[in-house]
Amino acid sequence: MGQVDPNLLLEATLVLVFLGVLIWRTRVLDIKGTAAALAVGAAVYFTIGRGGIVVLLTFLTISAAFTRIGYDRKKALDAAELKGGIRGWKNVLGNGSVAAGSAILYQIDPSRSHLYSVAMICSIAAVFADTLATEIGLLSRGRVLSIIGLREVRPGEPGGVTLYGYGGATLAGVMTWAVSALSFPNPLGATNLLGATLTSALLGTTVDSLVGQLIQGRYVCKSCGVVTEHLEHCGLPTTLVSGLKFVDNHVVNTICSLTGAVVGVVYFSVT
Ligand SMILES: [Zn+2]
Repeated sequence: MGQVDPNLLLEATLVLVFLGVLIWRTRVLDIKGTAAALAVGAAVYFTIGRGGIVVLLTFLTISAAFTRIGYDRKKALDAAELKGGIRGWKNVLGNGSVAAGSAILYQIDPSRSHLYSVAMICSIAAVFADTLATEIGLLSRGRVLSIIGLREVRPGEPGGVTLYGYGGATLAGVMTWAVSALSFPNPLGATNLLGATLTSALLGTTVDSLVGQLIQGRYVCKSCGVVTEHLEHCGLPTTLVSGLKFVDNHVVNTICSLTGAVVGVVYFSVT
């Protein structure tokens, strides 16, 4: 187990309290979501340090910005994040628990610290990519196709993919690479790290769509008949029509982040 530097502990506590207030006041996350984000942030800041928190913050702020762009249009499509785009604790843990776990392993097993920092970076590349793919895809007005079978589906439907979405995923992979390369003593080298974040971004997004189409729970609204991933619609509880009840969007996000972490570990091991 590595020692935590007391100066880092003090710095991290001050910065996290400040960020927590900012995230909550700007309504990026609700109060429980902010608490969850602080837990993930603390796990990363106390172990990996400043570089780790810079990567997390890039993901959080740019995702929040893209969630707000065209929010009314996304809402009209019935595909927007609920509650005005303010995300909650389940969303935070779905996206961030693999990063937090990688950070804790980084501390427990310092002999493989580089491996775990790459896993953390790549898990964030994957969920960042998936978030931008969804938010940018919804803005594109282009056709949405199911990843398996390429049928035209409703925007926001699990398993739906768009060309613009993959553009967004690529952008997220590049941004994760850029901030990581600037804020980490990078063990992979710049080119390999770009390969790792881009692969995590594109593969993570693809796995997310595959899992979304194949096993995520889908529900039908008894009132208007729309198929949705939500447990409530038109103010009424919805009925499960396909997929597994316990596989919701947050479970799918966790699988996406895990895909990124695995890509990172593989990249680290073979390069
Ligand atoms: Zn309805």
